[in-house]
Amino acid sequence: MTVEQKDLSIFIQQPTGLPNASGYMQMVAELGSRRKYSEYCAFYFNVKGFGGINREIGREQGDELIRSYAENVQKFLKEDELLGHLGGDNFMAFLLRAREQEFIRYLSAVPVDTEIDGHKKRFLLAATVGVWEITEDSIDIGDVISRPSIALNHAKNFRHQDVVMVSDDMVEKIRQRKTVLADFHDALERQEFVVYYQPKVDSRDNGLVGAEGLVRWIHEGKMVSPGIFIPPLEENGDIVLLDYYVLNRVCQDMRTWISKGIEPVTVSVNFSRKDLDDEHLAENINAIIEKAGIDKDLIQVEVTETIDEREHSVLTEFIDKLFEFGITTAIDDFGSGYSALSTLREFRIHTLKIDRSFIDTDVFSWRDRIILQDIVHMARELGMDVITEGVERDDQLDFVNQAGCYVIQGFYYDRPLAFEEFEKRLVEGRYDGRKNVFPAKTEYKIKS
Ligand code: C2E
Ligand code: MG
Ligand code: MG
Repeated sequence: MTVEQKDLSIFIQQPTGLPNASGYMQMVAELGSRRKYSEYCAFYFNVKGFGGINREIGREQGDELIRSYAENVQKFLKEDELLGHLGGDNFMAFLLRAREQEFIRYLSAVPVDTEIDGHKKRFLLAATVGVWEITEDSIDIGDVISRPSIALNHAKNFRHQDVVMVSDDMVEKIRQRKTVLADFHDALERQEFVVYYQPKVDSRDNGLVGAEGLVRWIHEGKMVSPGIFIPPLEENGDIVLLDYYVLNRVCQDMRTWISKGIEPVTVSVNFSRKDLDDEHLAENINAIIEKAGIDKDLIQVEVTETIDEREHSVLTEFIDKLFEFGITTAIDDFGSGYSALSTLREFRIHTLKIDRSFIDTDVFSWRDRIILQDIVHMARELGMDVITEGVERDDQLDFVNQAGCYVIQGFYYDRPLAFEEFEKRLVEGRYDGRKNVFPAKTEYKIKS
């Protein structure tokens, strides 16, 4: 191999001989200097079921097949269009926008002929496709691969569709995810995470009976809500560090109130299911509470249900251990997903938190009412406390009251509050005379 050939080979992907990621980006940049980027679409696609075919026909034949596939796709291209190969069955292409739909149709069934054991065989290979329709003339060159690949990831893992266009929203989520993961450890050290407290109120006498601790991230002067940073932290497992931090903070706040002579209420703290990967989760929670010298009944642990069998048994063990330590557990968001009656039967839970989806409607059906009524009834018969989340309006409060649930957590009484604000509620202890925040949207009525 000559020096020149060797140098060029770093831009080539085998077995197809097409440009690899660096080669492709360079060629796209060259095209961009001659034509407008906004005339183009960037594609990232993956041959469906290729792994299986490869196993069936063997690696060598598989290479041959992918080579023929690439050759055919290449033939579809016109002047000033490009095809690249990232490796395996992953390709990228840069085509004129006017041919976008035609190309997508073509990729849905690319005929590829190959010879297996002396017999000719024709495969019709379909691809899952991510597309970026470029609208700007000035672009970050890496985006020609990363943007359609974000769309491809959505196509495969979330939407289960053959073709997905990348949206600004998808790109923004990925950007946020990267920022969260990069900044998390420093932010934890700098104590940028704070706990807000949302009151739980007994609607029969308007008495404050508890609260839920909800984490907030004060990042660069702005408040970031958990919906943004919790999913990425759950994905990489760092969430457990945050959850221990929140528990510690709640215990410290509790000590502050006690030392000021203010009587605290039980505060529930969320633990993600991902935290169960830590075998010592229950022991660690117990140790944190004991070290803080807080009564065990002042802290409650909130977890969500699961339908995964393995997770189910780990969760049972976790709840049992907490029970032995004298720490109570609440099942959060009950009824939001695939709730199983076995949750009520098998877990030693103290509190059932009914998800707001039960009341997230303008008009309640008799079905809603019967289901809620029966869940509340069953839980109470089993000795559990019941609380409904997300109550905002009078009609919702009436509805849950009629179903036999009186303790509520929702904007009706209060949003999650900062430490000082919540401290005032602790001192007041009741919500007498307080008007609800939201007016009823409709008159309370039961739809038949
Ligand atoms: P969640 O545990 O079910 O918490 C209740 C969520 O409902 C909170 O959202 C709360 O602000 C919101 N909410 C309460 N009342 C109302 C209402 O009347 N109307 C409406 N529309 N919403 C209401 P938030 O604080 O944004 O938290 C979202 C989720 O993030 C929580 O849902 C929980 O799953 C998670 N989360 C929050 N803090 C932590 C934490 O420290 N650790 C973990 N692992 N997850 C947390
Ligand atoms: Mg919760
Ligand atoms: Mg909840």
